Amino acid sequence: MHSGDAVVPVFCVDPRQFAPLPSGVPKTGVFRARFLLEALADLRASFRAMGGDLIVRHGRPEAVLPALVREVGARRVLMHEEVASEETTVEADVSTLLEGMGASLEGVWGHTLYHADDLPFDLVSLPDVFTKFRNRVERESVVRPPRTAPRRITTPAIEPGVLPTLKSLGLPRVVDDPRTLFRPVGGETAARARLDHYLWKTDGIRTYKDTRNGMLHVDDSSKLSPWLALGCLSPRRVWSEVQRYEQTRAKNESTYWLVFELLWRDYFRFVMARFGNQLFAVTGLQSSRFPWRSLRDASTRADFARWTAGTTGFPIVDAAMRELSASGYTSNRARQNVASFLTKNLGIDWRLGAEWFESLLVDYDVSSNWGNWAYAAGVGNDARGFRFFNLQKQSTEYDPLGEFARHWIPELRTDSRTAYPTPMLDLFATAKANEARYERVARE
Ligand SMILES: Cc1cc2nc3c(=O)[nH]c(=O)nc-3n(C[C@H](O)[C@H](O)[C@H](O)COP(=O)(O)OP(=O)(O)OC[C@H]3O[C@@H](n4cnc5c(N)ncnc54)[C@H](O)[C@@H]3O)c2cc1C
Repeated sequence: MHSGDAVVPVFCVDPRQFAPLPSGVPKTGVFRARFLLEALADLRASFRAMGGDLIVRHGRPEAVLPALVREVGARRVLMHEEVASEETTVEADVSTLLEGMGASLEGVWGHTLYHADDLPFDLVSLPDVFTKFRNRVERESVVRPPRTAPRRITTPAIEPGVLPTLKSLGLPRVVDDPRTLFRPVGGETAARARLDHYLWKTDGIRTYKDTRNGMLHVDDSSKLSPWLALGCLSPRRVWSEVQRYEQTRAKNESTYWLVFELLWRDYFRFVMARFGNQLFAVTGLQSSRFPWRSLRDASTRADFARWTAGTTGFPIVDAAMRELSASGYTSNRARQNVASFLTKNLGIDWRLGAEWFESLLVDYDVSSNWGNWAYAAGVGNDARGFRFFNLQKQSTEYDPLGEFARHWIPELRTDSRTAYPTPMLDLFATAKANEARYERVARE
């Protein structure tokens, strides 16, 4: 918010972000809420060090922002532009309210590696598969270098407001599980430290392509996702550090691959901007009529509960689901496996999986989450039809010694007195039956 030469950096704690989702789980669970609180404290400290402050207000932006505009006499309100409907609806409502007061709301594009204005096509012509998107942006566009932060800011002397706490948000205290492999701390300070660690201190990036499918070690992948998702770190900053690393230390397939993954992130963001609410619909982007099992049915509720609790009898699924519940994170490989199991074996409505992730993930990003889920369910941008993960093969390939499984499933350890559940289904028979249903509706 601009008021004369002064800026009023404001964060609005919107209660809707902490309300329950349709399936009953909180929209923002404790891991992401804690991360947000840490990020706000870090941001406030940075602004204070620059002579300004972070103003915090509790309530809906539709109520908070007009009141603040009136209080400080601001004429321009700048916001980070969002793409999903919950956020764009709020933006539109705030814009109307501010206009009525003679002030303006202006969007600033961020979040992506390639700026929306630099895409070599209109959003309506967004390529329908990732590879085409990547080829075109890599060939025909450039990444803008990151901006340098201001050294000083001036904030008018107004009540700064108190930072929320887990308690004030109606959430319980977090008790960290001692088995937690990755515990990110919110804020730009920790984000930069992680980037420094992964690139410069450990050279993790040098072997990223070979290690990125690992599930057990924190440096198997960059682990930058929580900071990228919340905006504590920009992909352009990551990109420019990768460039510097390539110029001064090493340039190989792995260093490229990290940027390649950031392009997936861009792609899902632009898919959300292009298709909007279609990405939240059960039919996805394919208008698929697949007969998903729903929670109205008691047997589905029981099966879904086994998936969420990590008691399916498939160690590679159960370890990942337990890790997610205990820490708010699980690796990309693990996410793909559990998503395949829920949708291709259990045949349960993929949106329930997406909501479960939305609540728990510390790195939840609306576009990446719903885009990846739709993709995994075979209703997203995927030209390849019904693909299911052979979990036996996945275990042999990615957890050959069963270390990841034993890390999260005490029943599998030799000294355990508790029995591990027997598999709840036949992997191949269920996948085959669901594939037949998938093909049938595709022909209809
Ligand atoms: C079902 C499912 C749901 C997912 N939900 C989310 C989500 O809510 N938020 C999220 O950030 N990622 C999501 N992902 C993508 C991916 O699993 C995570 O980005 C990754 O595990 C984060 O770990 P990392 O930072 O070490 O990744 P790295 O392997 O180090 O990748 C670097 C960065 O590239 C981006 N990235 C990597 N893979 C993907 C991908 N498949 N899609 C989009 N971006 C990617 C992330 O920003 C990541 O931090 C999901 C994947 C699946 C299969």
